[in-house]
Amino acid sequence: MKLVFATNNLNKLKEVQEMLPDSIQLLSLEDIGCSDEIDETESTLEGNANLKAGYIKNKFGFNCFADDTGLEVISLDGKPGVYSARFAGEPANSENNMQKLLVDLENKTNRKAQFRTAVALHINDEKFLFEGICKGEILRMKQGEKGFGYDPIFKPEGFDQSFAAMSSAEKNTISHRGIAIQKLVYFLSNYK
Ligand code: IMP
Repeated sequence: MKLVFATNNLNKLKEVQEMLPDSIQLLSLEDIGCSDEIDETESTLEGNANLKAGYIKNKFGFNCFADDTGLEVISLDGKPGVYSARFAGEPANSENNMQKLLVDLENKTNRKAQFRTAVALHINDEKFLFEGICKGEILRMKQGEKGFGYDPIFKPEGFDQSFAAMSSAEKNTISHRGIAIQKLVYFLSNYK
């Protein structure tokens, strides 16, 4: 089955490709000739995921899934959440985002946080949502060189190293996106 993943982020594409069975042929936006900028204008992760999947399905006709992820920090009332990519302002910059988060948490004792991913699948005439959560905490300083985004300062629960210190295979098995995609893959394997 051909299926579009509505993303331009090659890190994410690689992560998801590693998890999909051979029977599902994943196409990127580039593969279908889509260079449109799809603005994430909704106020929830689910809203943005639906917006992106719906845009591709309507304009290009491909079955499609899209994801949106936010880092939700408990002592910041769930921020940066849906605004994680641009937490420190425009243009989006991971170093600045991490720096801002470390400063905002300087005087907080509770450093608990979770990554949450919403995946919207628009397939034939149906729409489905899948959610993945990875609980953990925000470290006091960066650790590790791999990954992207907030990976160097996020330590998942039950582990003693940050996402950025793990291999992508190890991260995939426990990450928010990994969990949401595993639900999607299970669903697609049983989809008639
Ligand atoms: P997106 O919806 O997947 O583009 O995620 C929004 C923002 O959340 C990204 O720009 C990153 O800053 C952050 N983010 C998403 N997933 C991850 C992850 O797995 N590790 C670290 N940061 C992430």
